[in-house]
Amino acid sequence: MFDKILIANRGEIALRVIRAAREMGVKTVAVHSTADSDAMHVRMADEAICIGPAPGAQSYLNIAAVISACEITGAQAVHPGYGFLSENATFVQALEDHGITFIGPTAEHIRIMGDKITAKETMIKLGVPCVPGSDGGVPTLEEARRVSEEMGFPVIVKATAGGGGRGMKLARTAKDLDNAFGSARSEAKAAFGNDEVYIEKYLGTPRHIEVQVFGDGKGNAVHLGERDCSLQRRHQKVFEEAPGPAITPEMRAEIGATCAKAVADICYIGAGTIEFLWENGEFYFIEMNTRLQVEHPVTEAVFGVDLVREQIRVAAGLPMEFTQESLGEPQGHAIEVRLNAEKLPSFSPSPGRISQYHAPGGLGVRMDSALYDGYRIPPYYDSLIGKLIVHGRDRAEALARLDRALMEIIIDGVDTTIPLHRELVRNRDVIAGDYTIHWLEKWLEANL
Ligand code: ADP
Repeated sequence: MFDKILIANRGEIALRVIRAAREMGVKTVAVHSTADSDAMHVRMADEAICIGPAPGAQSYLNIAAVISACEITGAQAVHPGYGFLSENATFVQALEDHGITFIGPTAEHIRIMGDKITAKETMIKLGVPCVPGSDGGVPTLEEARRVSEEMGFPVIVKATAGGGGRGMKLARTAKDLDNAFGSARSEAKAAFGNDEVYIEKYLGTPRHIEVQVFGDGKGNAVHLGERDCSLQRRHQKVFEEAPGPAITPEMRAEIGATCAKAVADICYIGAGTIEFLWENGEFYFIEMNTRLQVEHPVTEAVFGVDLVREQIRVAAGLPMEFTQESLGEPQGHAIEVRLNAEKLPSFSPSPGRISQYHAPGGLGVRMDSALYDGYRIPPYYDSLIGKLIVHGRDRAEALARLDRALMEIIIDGVDTTIPLHRELVRNRDVIAGDYTIHWLEKWLEANL
């Protein structure tokens, strides 16, 4: 096992990793920007080192600075959290060149899955069902027209380098295609420096269902069921739950086994998520995330495991602590809501000083957050300031628990998305589990 690991991240996920490491007796190094000198992850780690100025590009994304921090502190491995360098193959390669272990998959797997066209081709070969679409990239408008006519409208034009919902445009009819194709390409160019796009059949009423997988890098892999993350705004998840209200144990066993086999076949190491759209009982692969997801705690709750601990273990060459059999079926029901420092109804960022913070607690409640009284949320980073996770014996109990935890929580001084969650948890469709990926956008339009 490692003596010391460095966490190349900030906020709640940095704390999450520090907590797991501490329970394992592994020392931690926090890195931070000048804007984060007073951040909780800096206070909680065994050591902390400043790696640059406030903007992420000059600190948390600065590969040379992170590697220097490892060398100065003697950290043997790096946990990247999510976002920042977590899916950066160049970073993983650079760590390897310096003899530092990356707590995550190989550079090659990150590269394959980071390019959505290659990812889809790989998944088709591995027997994973995919959304019907173009054969690879679509370089010209003429080609886009031909592919779309053949497939039938509506279609969605997607950036192969895409992420975070960017570079994705819907064309309902042939008339919309010129615009969708052009704007997806220019958005992709601006966001990712790569304007390659491909085309997929647009599914009208799907749910977003993702399967958690975990491999040891030696050809053994398991699945940890699914999460339903259909409640989204601008393709960003807002409310996540496990198990999926629409998924039966038979469906879970079947898609889970397909996913576990796929990652075992490529000797995948660590945590990964295979994302699907699900419509009329069919799963359609859209992408794989080669990292820990924001919403991993709902899976931890229903399977009673610590995914970060497992990530650190397999990175150190140890076996996984679970098998498919020992994991069994998900127990009870868990829900996570993302708490963002944002002003409704525009969802514009609301940084500032937290004048009062009170975390909810009690049976079945987990609050993952880096907030504290007097903390000043800097304006430079993502607006996620906390995740409230509840676990109940069934979905009804989880919803009741979420409702009461949302009543207990106090975050004063900045605007947050808590009022939205208080409404959602009492909404008839949410209570019934009756929603698709479009439900929240429509509800927001009508109600905010
Ligand atoms: P990103 O990497 O930017 O998050 P994804 O490919 O994971 O992009 O898609 C994000 C979301 O966009 C999905 O959860 C879904 O809401 C929507 N989406 C993606 N592909 C399709 C499709 N073929 N049909 C309908 N909606 C889609």
